[in-house]
Amino acid sequence: MFKNKHRFKEMFVSRLETMHGKSVEEATLTDCYATLGSMVREQLSKDWIRTNDFYRDEPTKQVYYLSMEFLLGKLLKTNLVNLGIRDLCEKGLGDLGIDLEAVELQEPDAGLGNGGLGRLAADFMDSLASLQLPGHGCGIRYKYGLFEQKIVDGYQVEVPDYWLREGNVWEVRKSDKAVEVPFYGEVISVTEGDRIRYEHVNYEPVLAVPYDIPMVGYENRTVNSLRLWSAESAIKDFDFNQLHHKNYHRIIEYKRNTEAISEFLYPDDSTIEGKMLRLKQQYFMVSASLQSILCRFKRKNIPITDLPNEVAIHTNDTHPVLAIPELMRLLMDKEGLGWDEAWDVTTRTISYTNHTIMVEALEKWPIDLMQPLLPRIYMIINEINERFCQQLWDRHPGEWALIERMAIISHGYVNMAHLAVVGSYSVNGVSKLHSNILKNELLSLFYKEEPYKFNNKTNGITHRRWLLTANPLLSKTITEAIGPAWIESPEELERLAKYADDVSLQNEFAQVKQKNKNMLAKKIWNDYGIKVDPASIFDVHIKRMHAYKRQLLNVFHILDLYRVLKDNPNLSIVPRTFLFGGKAAPSYHLAKSVVKLIHTVAQTINSDTTIRDQLKVVFIPNYGVTHSEQIVPAADVSEQISTASKEASGTGNMKFMMNGALTIGTYDGANIEMAEAVGEENMFLFGLRPDEVIHYYEHGGYHAREMYNQDPRLKHILDQLVNGTFVKEDVDFKSIYYSLIDYDEFFVLKDFASYVDAQHEVTRQFHHRSEWVRKCILNVAHSGVFSSDRTIQQYAKDVWRLTPVAKLNHK
Ligand SMILES: *Cc1c(COP(=O)(O)O)cnc(C)c1O
Repeated sequence: MFKNKHRFKEMFVSRLETMHGKSVEEATLTDCYATLGSMVREQLSKDWIRTNDFYRDEPTKQVYYLSMEFLLGKLLKTNLVNLGIRDLCEKGLGDLGIDLEAVELQEPDAGLGNGGLGRLAADFMDSLASLQLPGHGCGIRYKYGLFEQKIVDGYQVEVPDYWLREGNVWEVRKSDKAVEVPFYGEVISVTEGDRIRYEHVNYEPVLAVPYDIPMVGYENRTVNSLRLWSAESAIKDFDFNQLHHKNYHRIIEYKRNTEAISEFLYPDDSTIEGKMLRLKQQYFMVSASLQSILCRFKRKNIPITDLPNEVAIHTNDTHPVLAIPELMRLLMDKEGLGWDEAWDVTTRTISYTNHTIMVEALEKWPIDLMQPLLPRIYMIINEINERFCQQLWDRHPGEWALIERMAIISHGYVNMAHLAVVGSYSVNGVSKLHSNILKNELLSLFYKEEPYKFNNKTNGITHRRWLLTANPLLSKTITEAIGPAWIESPEELERLAKYADDVSLQNEFAQVKQKNKNMLAKKIWNDYGIKVDPASIFDVHIKRMHAYKRQLLNVFHILDLYRVLKDNPNLSIVPRTFLFGGKAAPSYHLAKSVVKLIHTVAQTINSDTTIRDQLKVVFIPNYGVTHSEQIVPAADVSEQISTASKEASGTGNMKFMMNGALTIGTYDGANIEMAEAVGEENMFLFGLRPDEVIHYYEHGGYHAREMYNQDPRLKHILDQLVNGTFVKEDVDFKSIYYSLIDYDEFFVLKDFASYVDAQHEVTRQFHHRSEWVRKCILNVAHSGVFSSDRTIQQYAKDVWRLTPVAKLNHK
């Protein structure tokens, strides 16, 4: 690495000159970013190559994590931290009059994901490398990431996110490793001796070109790879130049359709929109990844039937589950295995994580769509289904209804979750509660057949990004109190617990939080022109906008507080700042109305001088990884208020806990395990329990309109949505009103009273500063178990069975 500050400065200045033809004085921050990025890329290349050589030459089992989303955010800062050179660079650039933090912020956010599922994949990459485990990501290099959210007049407006505009310093294009992915065409059978081989002919080829991004481990010289595939035309340019060619227009159309495959990330992980293209994307990623995995495996010259001993392939939700029929196809059609052998290899290689029980997010593909696009794959799925149904029939003769409910193909659709469970050796949920719901509700029939497949792996977050890097002040305080061991072993944070009553540590914690709040307040003023009181409670609700995450419940509490203040003009409360952030899927009208409602409420409250600035409401536009990193360290209160049973795990909740915010939340997802870790008395839990919610869904018995009639607070709030209080323009909150009065699918009205009580408790306890800070310390102390290092160690041992590789022997 850069030997010393002096040498670093020399290199930087000379690189800036060669790359941009500028002196330090003339250079823009973007120039500085590109320069530093390329220097760091170069520095880590040696370790990257060495890690790859090691994996190639040593007999180590590899895991490939297939995911349609990797929400990476920015990489320069974490790379500098993980390489252990950030201090040196900061000082070196400081000498040259350049602010490293400002340079780091130039990097575009790689927004190749919607939310938690995509960020989890990115956090897992960090943990794999930091634990020196041979694990790699496979995904798509979307030209446009998740849309940029602009707010115009309180409404969300979506703008394309062309994150590659200035290039990407981290990626390396590997044209020589490109593979061809077949679409459409026909399947013919060829008899060879006593067996029939199938061949996919007349297909439309798409070229998959890999771009590799280094995944840097924490101070351990391990650099794994994230391979993102880009779709390109498989027709050579020279064919193209024949402009008079009679197929010219078809070629142009082919080229456009091909490139469309890796153009956009679908801006929603809860519905399956643009179905055909989305299915193309899935098969494209899966086929390219598996071809490259097999190619690498075969260079080892061991029998293909040994694949499960050498390779584990993990599917992040059902999106990459075509990996099951695709692996079957490659093993049978290309490697010459028979069905039984291929099935044995496949079902010992592939594992699956379920991420949601939301019905609309459970993927089902119409046969009419899949069969023409992927004829060979559909044939294989059909065969898997027939064999599976036969097996069920043998076990449960005559039970047609059962077989119909479990079939992979039924009523014209391919059920991807069923395919996933049947074709993989491990099925896991992402929190204890969620895994139990899978076993007892959603997949209970499958659980009865093959209980040994089912297990739980509670999600985690990388404490290196979310604490060490995002919150340097708190990290320093922690290290001063308990030493630096927590950085490599986050469970060591536990040692903070015994200082929770220590007044000087409490003061340190409080001061750090205050400084972080001051910084955020300043940023909110600079960026959005809103003055917030840094002494107020920072109450934060940031996550995708979705009915089940219940931003509405939060808004209703705010409206209730506002009414109380208006009714009692002399009342003084602990001032509060409510911060929101989150994108709504473009076609999700209700979620978009909630964005507008938050803005409308914010405008009303923020401009009302009669409440003497005791309440402020701020919506931070374009929520993403970087905003999250800036907001979380400044939070006092973390809103985790999903309808119980609906949030599979949540990971936002963990980020806040690790940064010393107190959680107001429901008995949902990982909140329950957070309470187990830190104690319920150190959180603010409220609302229906998951079994109560499930009971209502199954048996009815909740009538929203009764709540409205019974609770005058609710009546007042709901009436304001439709009686003209807010409807001064052409907005219409009627759809929100009726979604609650008529059905209230997510129990907003039902949980309102309980939520308001919990919020009262928050206010009451915030007064008792020492007691509050004590709880913050305890939350941080017990957050270590939510590091993704713990999650990844569990996957490595129980699911992927990676023999703990001896530490990579880098000399
Ligand atoms: C952590 C994270 C999420 C997930 O948040 P939840 O509160 O668990 O839904 C979503 N988006 C971004 C940008 C994140 O960093």
